[in-house]
Amino acid sequence: MVVASYSKQKKEVSAKDVEFVTGSDPYYLIAEGGSVDTSKWDVAPHLAFVKLAVDDPIEVRKFMLKYGAWYSAETEGDRTKVTQAELAKKQSLLRMAWQRVDPKKADESEQAFEIRRKQEAGQKQDARQEIAHQGTNGFSAPVLMTGFGGKTKGGARKADPYVLMTAGSLWAVICVLSMRTFWATRNGYCVNPNCPNGRYFLRLRKNQQVCGARECVSYAQTEYTMKWWKSAGKPQYRGQKPRRDSKKGGSK
Ligand SMILES: [Zn+2]
Repeated sequence: MVVASYSKQKKEVSAKDVEFVTGSDPYYLIAEGGSVDTSKWDVAPHLAFVKLAVDDPIEVRKFMLKYGAWYSAETEGDRTKVTQAELAKKQSLLRMAWQRVDPKKADESEQAFEIRRKQEAGQKQDARQEIAHQGTNGFSAPVLMTGFGGKTKGGARKADPYVLMTAGSLWAVICVLSMRTFWATRNGYCVNPNCPNGRYFLRLRKNQQVCGARECVSYAQTEYTMKWWKSAGKPQYRGQKPRRDSKKGGSK
């Protein structure tokens, strides 16, 4: 169990702390602050980020206000400057690591990204190793406090032992949480190309191929049936004939 906090926490991140600046290379100016209420996280931050529309400033600001500010080494005045391009680059890295894309099998844009990333980083490691590397470097004080049980701010009992870690940026938190799910093989990519959830999901079971959406589950069942028909030649009916919809996806 990891509970993350931010090293710059002086006050809670508010709307005026994240300013969007348009231009040929749009960027965000982020004020000091950084304390976030993790109880508002209905979706884990690494899952939210991998699906985030990084080119939509409204969505990005919403994301930062909920999950915490994204700090970078670059500053402008007393504020941190984070370009939209940097966010897109981090997301590409996370997406590659999430799907464990083999650079040899990656599509053109992914290959180009991988080559550029290696050149910039001067490293030969794959996307998951790179995530681990960046996550480890993002924590200034590895363990601030550990505890067992106790009560949360809201008065609810904490059932699990916890570690309070101080991260320099939201990206470090995303890296660490991603590593946890990589190790547990919980990072899923829905097999349904028309997945309504943006395809990325966290698996509940290791062999789970589709996210929880009903249409994805029926998509997978249809695929399985088609494969079975091809391999077995003919179906074996058990009482009822399997219903085969000619309309893909069916109706709601
Ligand atoms: Zn899906």
